[in-house]
Order: sequence, then structure tokens, then C-alpha cells
Amino acid sequence: MTNEVVILGGGPAGLSCALWLHNSGYSPRVLEQAPACGGLLRFNHHENDWLLGFPNATGLSIRERFIEHVGRHDFPVVTSAALSGLRATGSGFGVAYSAGGEAREALADFLVIASGTRPRAPAELESLASQYPQRCLIGAGQLRIDEVPPGRRVAMLGGGDNAFENAWLLARRGVWVDIYYRGEARAQRDWQNRCAAMPGRIGLHPHTATDGFAKAAQGLEFRANGELRQADIVVVMYGYGPNTDALLQLAPWLGDVVDAHGFVQVNEYQRTALPRLYAIGDVTNRPLPTLPSAIGQGSVAAKAIVLESEGRPPAP
Ligand SMILES: Cc1cc2nc3c(=O)[nH]c(=O)nc-3n(C[C@H](O)[C@H](O)[C@H](O)COP(=O)(O)OP(=O)(O)OC[C@H]3O[C@@H](n4cnc5c(N)ncnc54)[C@H](O)[C@@H]3O)c2cc1C
Repeated sequence: MTNEVVILGGGPAGLSCALWLHNSGYSPRVLEQAPACGGLLRFNHHENDWLLGFPNATGLSIRERFIEHVGRHDFPVVTSAALSGLRATGSGFGVAYSAGGEAREALADFLVIASGTRPRAPAELESLASQYPQRCLIGAGQLRIDEVPPGRRVAMLGGGDNAFENAWLLARRGVWVDIYYRGEARAQRDWQNRCAAMPGRIGLHPHTATDGFAKAAQGLEFRANGELRQADIVVVMYGYGPNTDALLQLAPWLGDVVDAHGFVQVNEYQRTALPRLYAIGDVTNRPLPTLPSAIGQGSVAAKAIVLESEGRPPAP
């Protein structure tokens, strides 16, 4: 046993797991497909007060602290890593990838999936966003609240926390917002109350289906329950889906541990039903994902890997 661990994804979960493994005397290797680590924190410009010890920090500044911490150690963190193969070797895994024009295969005793999630959108809106990236935004990460001028009209699609919270933040700075959602709102009661308290500024449109999105003279036009509407900016807040599709293409055997929605199924030690395969963070089927839980799951997986490699895996 060489105690090599390959971690797929350099977001908060993957970096936390790597740090804990390194500090336990193991050899983690983080493979991150993006040009930089940090995962969704790279797109979080908001100040918030949710992470203990980081009062009012933005996701971007928290990310910088994580990268700086990891950078103090000498384990490999490979960015712009394109996976090309994933095989079970019997005693571990072979992970083929290329980075910086060089093709390699890393052999590992354990594999940890930490590939997170990405914002979901139907193909029609994906295509609109790629044609008009200033007018159609997908996910909270693309919306810069402070860059939307007061007086603009925003159509917010979705009935969850992200839609209501961002609608409220926009309205507070003088933007007109309409929130469209198919059924009842799913957002926390507090966000719903805050939005309902701004009736002149925020329009709520429950039980409303939207379609027919197209460029208009100013902004975009679309239909809401068949009625023609216009907005300067359309923001799609349809939640997040797991980054497992590319992994499943490379390794169809992963299908044994992926649920119907694409999330990796794990037990309380972040272990999957496949030997030596762990998964952590938002890509897993654990409920109510957050930044602290992603970091915490990274440390749980690292400790469980140490115990398993010592021949005493924690019992579920
Ligand atoms: C705008 C915004 C605001 C947020 N606000 C909060 C908040 O206030 N509080 C809070 O607790 N949480 C918040 N979150 C959520 C928080 O950022 C996530 O819960 C956290 O980032 C999850 O970490 P993760 O490592 O599991 O996944 P991610 O952050 O998604 O990282 C996964 C990484 O894996 C990489 N990857 C994907 N596929 C592959 C592959 N095939 N090979 C290699 N690498 C791959 C991705 O590029 C990414 O870097 C927010 C998120 C956003 C976008």
C-alpha cells in the first residue's frame, strides 16, 4: 500500500480532504478540471455571515484563504486536468488525465469523487445564455447584483431560496423584479415574506410556466402562461445538478453508486458501496449541502480512508 489518494475536484470538499490526508501522512493528488481551484466559491461574490470564523467574507475571499492554506503544503494540485480514463485495478484505481499538454496515469489506493454541482437550465435557456451572456444568466454565480443598474427589469425564474434571496437583493437597490415559478414557492418563509413585503418592486407569479424566450429590441421576450412579457435580464435559478455525467461516460461502472438524479450515494463515512471509492461534498446524496458540510465531509472521508487502509474500516 502506497497511501496514494486521487481526489477528483478541487472545490472546498476536495481541498479539505486533501489537507486532512496530507496531515495524516498520506499522499493526496487533486485533479481539478477548471483552470483554478475553489469550485463554486469562484463564482460567489456575495458577502455573507454563514461560515464560522469568516464574518462577512465573500466566497471569493474564502476561496483565497483555502488556496493559500493548501499552497503551504507540497502535495500535487493539478488544475486544467482533463480526465481521459478511470479504471478499477483490483487494489485501487488508475486515473488517466492530461494537463499542460502531457498525458499521465495516476495510480491510487483510494479514489475520492468531489466534483460538485453546476447550475441547471433547460437547453433553450442554455442556448440563449451562450448567445446573449449579458441578458440571460444561469445560476446565482453569474448574477452580479451590484452591476445591475437600478430601474432595470429582471425576470427571475425559479421558486427556491436562490430566486427569492437574489430578487430581494436586486429590488433593494431599485431593480424591478418578477419571480416566475411553476408551483408554490419553495423558498424559506423569511425570504418569501421579505419579497411579499415589496409588492411594488417584486411581482410574484406562482403556477406560471415560461417559454418562447427570444431576443427583443431591448432585452429578451418570453411567454408567461401564454402571455407575452419582456425583461432586460432573465436569471435562471432552477437549482444545481451533480457533475457525474462526464465521470459516468468514462466509467459506466460508477452507475452502481449513482442515484436516479446523478448524485453519488455514500454512507455516513462518505464511503460508496464500491471498494475504496469515496465521495464528498455537493456531488453526494447527503441532504442540505453547504460550504461547511462540504469541508466537513472532506475530513470525514480522509479519516475513514486512514482507518480503512489500516485494516479497520469504520462500521456503518
Ligand atoms: C453564488 C453562490 C453562493 C453560495 N453561498 C453559499 C453560502 O452562503 N453558504 C454556504 O454554505 N454555501 C454557499 N454556496 C454553496 C457552496 O459554495 C457549495 O456548497 C460548495 O462550494 C460545495 O463544495 P464542493 O467542493 O462539494 O463542490 P464545488 O464547489 O462544486 O467544487 C467541485 C469542483 O470539482 C470540479 N470538477 C467537476 N467535475 C470534474 C471532473 N470531472 N474532474 C475534475 N474536476 C471536476 C469543479 O470544476 C469544481 O472546482 C454558494 C454557492 C454559490 C454558487
